[in-house]
Amino acid sequence: MDPVLAERLRFFEERQEKMVATIRELVETESPSDNKQAVDRLGQVLAGKFSARGGRVQLHRVASCGDHLQVEFPARSSAKPVLLLGHLDTVYPMGTLASMPCQEKDGRLWGPGTLDMKSGIGLMLYAVEGLRSWHGDLPRPVTVLLVSDEEVGSDSSRQITEDLAKKSAAVLVLEPSYGLQGAVKTARKGVGEYQLKVTGVAAHSGLDFEKGQSAILELARQIEKVSGFTDLKRGLTLNVGLVQGGTRVNVVPAEATAAVDVRISRSQDAAYIDKRMKSLRPTNRKCQVAVTGGLNRPPMERTAGVAALYHEAAQIAQKLGWKLEEAAVGGGSDGNFTAGLGIPTLDGLGGVGEGAHATHESIVISELPKRAALVATLIERV
Ligand SMILES: [Zn+2]
Repeated sequence: MDPVLAERLRFFEERQEKMVATIRELVETESPSDNKQAVDRLGQVLAGKFSARGGRVQLHRVASCGDHLQVEFPARSSAKPVLLLGHLDTVYPMGTLASMPCQEKDGRLWGPGTLDMKSGIGLMLYAVEGLRSWHGDLPRPVTVLLVSDEEVGSDSSRQITEDLAKKSAAVLVLEPSYGLQGAVKTARKGVGEYQLKVTGVAAHSGLDFEKGQSAILELARQIEKVSGFTDLKRGLTLNVGLVQGGTRVNVVPAEATAAVDVRISRSQDAAYIDKRMKSLRPTNRKCQVAVTGGLNRPPMERTAGVAALYHEAAQIAQKLGWKLEEAAVGGGSDGNFTAGLGIPTLDGLGGVGEGAHATHESIVISELPKRAALVATLIERV
């Protein structure tokens, strides 16, 4: 092990209990995406913690959801800043702690949001603390952005994320790592959603059957077509996840709708799939088909910039005594936006654990010190 990095690892090992206590405090400050008050409370807690570490806090006020938290750490160096990206919100409704209490057991910290991504926020805090302690100041400027709406599509924060990314040398996303090996994410699929609405003609199914035009039958045919757009080899999938239609069993249905989740691996497939979706035509000419929606997040592709960032991280990990793997995943994050702009982005630098969004959500406590040492050193080296 490299002596400087060994020293850093020791620094965080000595602080492991404090790190767990901090993460626990963040988990116990519940922050569901749809509860502005709760998310703002977590924002306040974190504003205090980042200020205490020398950060200048700025809130981006939002009426419809929690405020986004931006923190600037200035430095004497004129290097471009590194952007540490994450989110305040969780998918868990208020009160989840009652059935899923935050607790330490079997070497893990369990609870809602431990993995996704309050441990990631904890790692940001301690990485900054480490750098300040070793250098007396930050070796380069660092910007932290914690958005409040990542779990619900990032509509109100996307512009801020993109503006800050454009000013940065690299983006480190502290979302959960992949698998219990703690792989970082160097590719993520792009995500889109479409709605299909079929309008037919209602009629009594006994008296006037021939006058009816079934929207459900037409929708079923459209679902066959849409599902046929899936191309596993090119990483393109379409999932019709919701269907609705009809009014009563003895009425030929005049309306039916479906919602389709789309995942793409390559940016150029966005236009391709949009064209195919928007050119859907009814097989029964007496029905109408309307298609709305589009791509929400572009794919995060493993560009040369992403690969270089991964190699830097893997080298640091190796000097810390472990092998950092990389993974391509189907889920999207705000890293998709920054990578889509061509800014080198490395995702999945956060906690190691399992069960994100599920009742067994947890992080492995012993992994925290080396993740913190990795993030801190990466901030310095990119
Ligand atoms: Zn997340």
